[in-house]
Amino acid sequence: MTELTLTNNLLLKMTSLFWKSMDWLYPPRCCNCDRRGFVLCNECYAEIEPLSKNLCLKCGYPIHSRSGLCEDCRISPPPYTQMRAWASHSGPVQKAIQALKYKRNLALGMTLAMPLVELVNNSGWQIDIVVPIPLSRTRMRTRGYNQAELISRYLAASLNIQHSTNKVKRIRNTSTQIDMDVNKRFTNLLDAFYANPATLKKKNILVIDDVITTGATMQNCTKALLKAGAENIYCMSVARAILRHEKRHKGLASNSALQSL
Ligand SMILES: [Zn+2]
Ligand SMILES: [Zn+2]
Repeated sequence: MTELTLTNNLLLKMTSLFWKSMDWLYPPRCCNCDRRGFVLCNECYAEIEPLSKNLCLKCGYPIHSRSGLCEDCRISPPPYTQMRAWASHSGPVQKAIQALKYKRNLALGMTLAMPLVELVNNSGWQIDIVVPIPLSRTRMRTRGYNQAELISRYLAASLNIQHSTNKVKRIRNTSTQIDMDVNKRFTNLLDAFYANPATLKKKNILVIDDVITTGATMQNCTKALLKAGAENIYCMSVARAILRHEKRHKGLASNSALQSL
């Protein structure tokens, strides 16, 4: 058994034991329906519809054809190799991410990482290092933790892949993107990331975030990693905001997702 396997096995056991003890001491409530005994109960979990059919081969956005690329990827191919998300940013997933992010319901990091393990295992991606999208220092100071890291750390341990939080950094504080349109988000994030070339040459990197909204964060982080010499960048999130093609693709749009961003 390698040192990495031993460390990851230990981390998984410790994490599981820690949350079991916490559940015993402070019985949790479901983040969606308030049912006692679960951070996300089975009924609410079953309501979640994974994004699995008719996805753009590049960015994973729902499209109408069985295979191919979405209009955005055809017109302007993104720099990453592939991007995927588990589910639409609505319903119980949205509630779970809000609880993880703003209500310090940290146990949800492990719960939300579990479906991503399966997604990566089915992707065929060869990954050397898993990294979370970093928070700015200011945001880290106010929140105290990076929600993406809570997910990526458990995911990397489950996949037995190296995890790192120092390969890529946010080098300037970007304005909050809640009320920005797509173009402003891309401009806001230009050169917001720096990746250290010392340990990234020819590496395949999996970047993890909690939510992908316009994809601007993932694209700019990818650019920094490629600039540092990384080979392939794969992007993955728990949730994906379904915002584009709202008029043409009825049923895919979620106004609640847009309003909550
Ligand atoms: Zn529930
Ligand atoms: Zn696409």
